[in-house]
Amino acid sequence: MSDSSTDNEASLHQYQDIQYSLKQSNRKTTSLFIERDGSVTVRAPLPYDMAKIESIIEQKRSWIYRNLAEWEDLNRVQVHREFVNGEGFLYLGRNYRLQLVDEQDEALVLKNGRFLLRRDHVDSGMEIFKNFYRTKGLDRINQRLTHFAPKMGVTFGSVRVMELQHRWASCTSKGDLNFHWRCLMAPLAVLDYIIIHELAHRLYRNHDAKFWDAVDKVLPDYQRHVSWLRHNGAGMGL
Ligand SMILES: [Zn+2]
Repeated sequence: MSDSSTDNEASLHQYQDIQYSLKQSNRKTTSLFIERDGSVTVRAPLPYDMAKIESIIEQKRSWIYRNLAEWEDLNRVQVHREFVNGEGFLYLGRNYRLQLVDEQDEALVLKNGRFLLRRDHVDSGMEIFKNFYRTKGLDRINQRLTHFAPKMGVTFGSVRVMELQHRWASCTSKGDLNFHWRCLMAPLAVLDYIIIHELAHRLYRNHDAKFWDAVDKVLPDYQRHVSWLRHNGAGMGL
């Protein structure tokens, strides 16, 4: 940390578990906001009053959590799963052990509480699992969208399950919805939250109070799921 930053360059800071970049403001007020990429920025006048900045972060803590949850860096913790007997793989919030098998029609099936992967497909295990999440995910997500959309009075366009950069899901201005295949590793209730969150964007583009009210109407305990994602999201990977 330096007290000689007189230009507009941002410096990176950490307050407890919240990382933020600090930029000089020409106004007298200190403000905190979340950038489009999900990073937290504080603008404050010089000289920086760190105590004041930190108390603002403290006041806004739950608001920050809510907003960061969506962008939680999926790659913060590199999960590395191996395609060997006994390795655990998540599906809808449960951990299933992998078993390699010699004979089986499909490359991968979930059966009797185990993921069965054909031994001659081990080298492409990553792609096969992603494909499993994508195809199973699309069915599941479509079902839930069809259930929740009318309750919320919204429509939606095309639905895709894919690899997304820094988000669990996204909603285009035309109403097309994209979901990360990793969403399928979350418990159903959390998956529902992700789906409802995107549908609420059909009503409000930004995460303002009206947006969260719309989520709250269909899912009064949504905060629990936001926090689940925050704490477990990084571990959801292959
Ligand atoms: Zn959102």
